[in-house]
Amino acid sequence: MNVYDAERMADILAPVGYMLTDTPDDADLVILNTCHIREKAAEKVYSDLGRIRLAKGARADANAMVIAVAGCVAQAEGEEILKRAPYVDMVFGPQTYHRLPEMVARAHRRTGVVLETDFPADSKFDHLPEPAAKGRTSAFLTVQEGCDKFCTFCVVPYTRGAEFSRPVEQVMKEARGLAAAGVREITLLGQNVNNYRGYVRGSAAWSLGRLIAELAEIDGLDRIRYTTSYPADVDEELIAAHRDVPALMPYLHLPVQSGSDRVLRAMNRRHTADDYRRLVASLRVAQPNLALSSDFIVGFPGENDRDFQDTMDLVQEIGFAGAYSFKYSPRPGTPAAIMEWQVAEGVKKDRLAALQDLLNAQQSGFNATCVGTELDVLLEGHGRHPGQLIGRSPYMQAVHVSAPDNLIGTIATLRIDEAHSNSLAASLLENRQTERAID
Ligand code: SAH
Repeated sequence: MNVYDAERMADILAPVGYMLTDTPDDADLVILNTCHIREKAAEKVYSDLGRIRLAKGARADANAMVIAVAGCVAQAEGEEILKRAPYVDMVFGPQTYHRLPEMVARAHRRTGVVLETDFPADSKFDHLPEPAAKGRTSAFLTVQEGCDKFCTFCVVPYTRGAEFSRPVEQVMKEARGLAAAGVREITLLGQNVNNYRGYVRGSAAWSLGRLIAELAEIDGLDRIRYTTSYPADVDEELIAAHRDVPALMPYLHLPVQSGSDRVLRAMNRRHTADDYRRLVASLRVAQPNLALSSDFIVGFPGENDRDFQDTMDLVQEIGFAGAYSFKYSPRPGTPAAIMEWQVAEGVKKDRLAALQDLLNAQQSGFNATCVGTELDVLLEGHGRHPGQLIGRSPYMQAVHVSAPDNLIGTIATLRIDEAHSNSLAASLLENRQTERAID
């Protein structure tokens, strides 16, 4: 979502004369878009700011560069940033960036620091211009933002605010614009994307499943994905979309966090490990090719060896094609940060290593099962070697192939020759080079 937000910031600044540069060295404005989800991400802000300050200092006229901090660290630590990095000129949260032209003008006037971290009553989406999508084959589209779930480890409800769904017509318009600009694949984004409730005039709000079915009708949009889902909010319409909508890719990121019911309860997750098993089973009935990825936290307060084993057992049982896993990171202001029985760092480290060994083995195993099969790959651009293109399989695997440039932006059916831990190597099939699988 930060990538999407950053793109939209560029979109809204373009009409007032800003364009992207590759380095901060000669920039008039540097925006550091930040993440607050774990301590490590938040701490990186200060080292990055240090480097940006050097670039600013190297300029003949240091006032020529405005330094801004955006995103969730800005939202959570606005005042603190200005104290620790007094050379920062602008701080704004994730819900106020539609005001950028006005904020930037103020900052350039140098009449004092610009701080905008409120949650405005109006939605930024009502003020953003059409996204600039030219030359892209795949794009993000935020349909939902914020979270009302209050998992006890998580800062999202405090930094992104309450759940909000963009109206259906606004989403459809943005998607049509992307498709018209040549985008073939969209990933629908939301912190809790499957609790999407899109306003439609004269009808009940649309669910995510309904929205996906409608988006699939747009000419040229061949692939649809969504992230991130909350297991307890997967409904029948979404499961049906996995069965009935061929454009909906058979790959789902469905965070479970833990396999222990004790830990899930302490996390306020509102689902048990068995609920998750049952949900995966019904999704697999709807879409037998479904591959799954997930998020895991190890070392949540109170997690013991038995709880951790429950997580390992769940992973073993479900089988994941990919995953993100993290050591629990206490976040200021969240209930879990002050829970008793915080887990020792060494224990977290060992559990993470064991879990990642298992998840990596599953990912490699999944990639290996693809060798010898044919997969539809959306070719997105050039690979590292001359004559090589790179694309994505339906299962989000990076795929390399020797192929002519005119295939960029098309979906090609490729034979998978080799599997590596993070990518696949493939070759073109004779005679069928430009066939689009979904047509
Ligand atoms: N539903 C959210 C989840 C975002 S955070 C969304 O997609 O926006 C992504 C993952 O980070 C979570 O699923 C969780 O596994 C991990 N995470 C969140 N807070 C954490 C914390 N305090 N410590 C460690 N990992 C955390």
